[in-house]
Amino acid sequence: MTQAKRPYKGRFAPSPSGELHFGSLVAAMGSYLQAQSQQGQWLVRIEDVDQSRTVPHSADNILSTLERFGFEWDEAVIYQSQRTEQYHFYLQKLIDKKLAYACDCSRNKLRQNNTTGIYPGYCRQKSIPATSAHALRCLTTPESIKFDDQIQGHYSVNLENECGDFIVKRRDGFFAYQLAVVIDDAEQGTTDIIRGTDLLSSTPQQIYLQQQLGFTTPDYGHLPVVMHDNGKKLSKSHQNLPLDCQQPVEILSKALLFLNQSPPKSLAQSSLNDFWQWAIQNWDINRIQATQEIRFNL
Ligand code: GLU
Repeated sequence: MTQAKRPYKGRFAPSPSGELHFGSLVAAMGSYLQAQSQQGQWLVRIEDVDQSRTVPHSADNILSTLERFGFEWDEAVIYQSQRTEQYHFYLQKLIDKKLAYACDCSRNKLRQNNTTGIYPGYCRQKSIPATSAHALRCLTTPESIKFDDQIQGHYSVNLENECGDFIVKRRDGFFAYQLAVVIDDAEQGTTDIIRGTDLLSSTPQQIYLQQQLGFTTPDYGHLPVVMHDNGKKLSKSHQNLPLDCQQPVEILSKALLFLNQSPPKSLAQSSLNDFWQWAIQNWDINRIQATQEIRFNL
């Protein structure tokens, strides 16, 4: 008997390292429209776990830009910087299960001995106390992690060979994104994650952590990321392209076109309410191209 799916809960989880740019707007829109079209809930979470990259006022700016663009979220916004206790709790579970170990390898050592970027497991057997001021890595296995992405199709990775033991707590004391995101998604009851393909290669690590911590794996859909039409990436912290809040519908219409929906030309001149009404009613995730990136003329 197949289990009934839990009521839909999606989320948008920006890192506050700059202003919201067009690429993040596309990610917000994809997850929002999918949630709304399923009569689901949509949450916003500020991923400020990496305090060294957090830009002052960025979170407030992102939230007010989302508001001006007409996004409405359910539940209170949560901030990763306030959730250290939960991350400690689950990290300890990994340590107790012997799934996390301390690693004292310096960046230089790894660079010199290993050109692939895949951690070769030097510290696996060293038994350095987990309480020491070193990074902690999650022990991986050669088993394949497979999932069917709603947009990109089937994806399979041998975690040990293709990714290696990955960091769950950094040497500087900050928890790694991979661990924080998995704990937050589980505790918030997220059922569906729609985000950019820049996070596709992180997904197997996240599914593995969910399995080890006894969490349910959500469904994933990875949207193509926006490239400048000159082929350059729209960097996440790109400061030059803050969104023009005076023209929200025009910009939202561009994002909708990027997602390969088919709005009538007149929609770009409509009110914010009419825009969202049309977008929710006509949203079709199957129209999104199954490609990792798309050049787009902004
Ligand atoms: N905070 C991440 C980012 O801005 C997104 C994480 C996610 O959606 O899982 O890249």
